Amino acid sequence: MTILAIESSCDETSAAIIRDGEILSNFIANQTIHEQYGGVVPELASRAHMQNIVPVVNAALQKAASQAGENGNDTAAFLQSVNAIAFTQAPGLIGSLLVGAQFAKSLALALNVPLIAVHHMQAHVLANLIEDPKPVFPFLCLTVSGGHTQIVLCESPLSLKVIGETMDDAAGEAFDKSAKLLGLPYPGGPLIDKYAKEGNPKRFKFPEPQIPGLGFSFSGLKTAILYFLQENTAANPRFVEENLADICASIQHRIVSILLNKLKAAALTTGIDQLCIAGGVSANSGLRKAFTELGEQNNWKTFIPAFQYCTDNAAMIAMTAYYKYLNEEFVDLGASPTARAEF
Ligand code: ATP
Ligand code: MG
Ligand code: FE
Repeated sequence: MTILAIESSCDETSAAIIRDGEILSNFIANQTIHEQYGGVVPELASRAHMQNIVPVVNAALQKAASQAGENGNDTAAFLQSVNAIAFTQAPGLIGSLLVGAQFAKSLALALNVPLIAVHHMQAHVLANLIEDPKPVFPFLCLTVSGGHTQIVLCESPLSLKVIGETMDDAAGEAFDKSAKLLGLPYPGGPLIDKYAKEGNPKRFKFPEPQIPGLGFSFSGLKTAILYFLQENTAANPRFVEENLADICASIQHRIVSILLNKLKAAALTTGIDQLCIAGGVSANSGLRKAFTELGEQNNWKTFIPAFQYCTDNAAMIAMTAYYKYLNEEFVDLGASPTARAEF
């Protein structure tokens, strides 16, 4: 059984092919146009998806066809073997989602195959099921991305429950906004990670918010960093330049400790000892290291998706679609994307 999946929720255009639960190909086109604006510009993102979607789908088909062998490099023949088309339905930028949704619907109509709608945040979680070693159910997943910070209780591939969430900014936003305050370009998360590697994480102390239960908050941290930088640059205009590595390491250390303290609390309250991370921020080297250590200290099993499955990609959409296909969860051609949605 073969599914072609399309992801277009934000600023990555991606297509992937899954056959019998194995990813055959996964192509991602990143949009660089947004760098000069310091954030994703929705209108420009939609236009870039329009330009990228045909070449990206073609590339995914070509690689899958040669991977699968039987059709050689014949993408047209390979396309005829596709049993369903999947797309990201929500959440995301509506103009971006519409490009992927319309493309998927047209293809499903032309091939006369069923259509599968996938929730982007559910897919981030199921990225953990793409490669071995895989967690066994039930497991907990800390999903940390550009727009979300969630602790998800996963009972089965299609039975996921959010048990903790941010009240304001997402972890990715906390990284990106901190980076902006330091004068770093967008998206700043990976740059904080890079400079943090050379720095002392204990040099500067940033506050840890006291949020009840499994909730998160990052807006106080952002304000604390703002005041900290204002005070110190007033005394020394070269403060950021001279201390960049230590500042980045200290900010990263605090964001990671906020995330992992709550994940630890979730593991203790639920008694679940299989832990995963997912989403763009799970590419952060400080988080990956501290997460692995948390597992070792408590005798919990920890799982981290490969880098290319942490940030937005269609392979995770394909993985989720695979389970939906087995469960016969199809949608009709009238299905519309939405900017927000619970799961
Ligand atoms: P959502 O999934 O919530 O809709 P999104 O799809 O835009 O949001 P992702 O693509 O999953 O989010 O992740 C992007 C975020 O990950 C950005 O905020 C980026 O800065 C952050 N990020 C990526 N790599 C790193 C890293 N190494 N360290 C810290 N943050 C990182
Ligand atoms: Mg992105
Ligand atoms: Fe995402």
